[in-house]
Amino acid sequence: MNSHPRVCVIGSINMDLVTTTKKIPKKGETVLGERFETFPGGKGANQAVTSARLGADVSMIGAVGNDTFGKALLEHFKSEGISQKGISIVPDISTGVAAITVSENDNRIIVSPGANSKVNPKILDEAQDVIIASDIILLQLEIPMETVQYTVEFAYKHKIPVILNPAPFQFIPEDILEKVTYLTPNEVESVSLSEMPLTESIKEKMIITKGEHGVEFISKSGEPKTIPGFKVNVKDTTGAGDTFNGALATELARTGDLDQSILFANAAAALSVERFGAQGGIPDRKEIITFIE
Ligand code: ADP
Repeated sequence: MNSHPRVCVIGSINMDLVTTTKKIPKKGETVLGERFETFPGGKGANQAVTSARLGADVSMIGAVGNDTFGKALLEHFKSEGISQKGISIVPDISTGVAAITVSENDNRIIVSPGANSKVNPKILDEAQDVIIASDIILLQLEIPMETVQYTVEFAYKHKIPVILNPAPFQFIPEDILEKVTYLTPNEVESVSLSEMPLTESIKEKMIITKGEHGVEFISKSGEPKTIPGFKVNVKDTTGAGDTFNGALATELARTGDLDQSILFANAAAALSVERFGAQGGIPDRKEIITFIE
């Protein structure tokens, strides 16, 4: 048992700009909204915050712009106890933002990746020590594929386990899939993955999250296994997958026990959908343990 699991998250950092309105404007129209709020977001950051709240020693590697949102997000990481030594401040480009318009029966989202598109292998080279010192690496696909590939090769060379959350889905070269330790698609992403020619060894590392239906994976005994979803009072499923991944990484680094870690992550993600917001819904370790018992 490792009581100080070190998790390194390499991924996206965004500010979510959420406008709530009764009416979505038509072409050329201006309407008055009801409320405007900002929330820290981005898959990488959401997963990093989950791991930190669950007790891991977390290092975030990524990039923000030299602007107000970037500064606010760096402060936010600090308040969550996440090391930001690996976060670059990139000049002449904005921090990643997601402009989200929410009305009763419609959502519209525009993501501007900004500095996330500048997370290049050079940023990883500068953070090599942090990466080498970690017990596990958590990756998603909101940064350039070149950087994802570079990370996986680097981790493989240094024998550091990697969880690749293939979201949002895009084509991933087969040799990269062979080198990651676990793949965590949701159901839609798993269908896209299955359209690629996958070897048995790649299929065996898939941990498929299936929303309210729980998780499907190949257990350590080699048997296909389904852990059913917990019955919860659903309020907001935004970020459920991110909570799952952050919790999975933390527990795997802590215990090394796959089945147990998946059970823990399934509970963490179920609790998160009972509350609003991607990061707002992340539970702490005590709550999860009480919930499982
Ligand atoms: P994503 O958010 O990436 O689309 P999923 O919808 O598969 O991913 O959700 C990830 C995990 O969150 C699930 O495997 C499950 O543990 C939990 N979860 C999501 N929705 C629910 C739900 N309605 N009830 C219980 N657990 C849920």
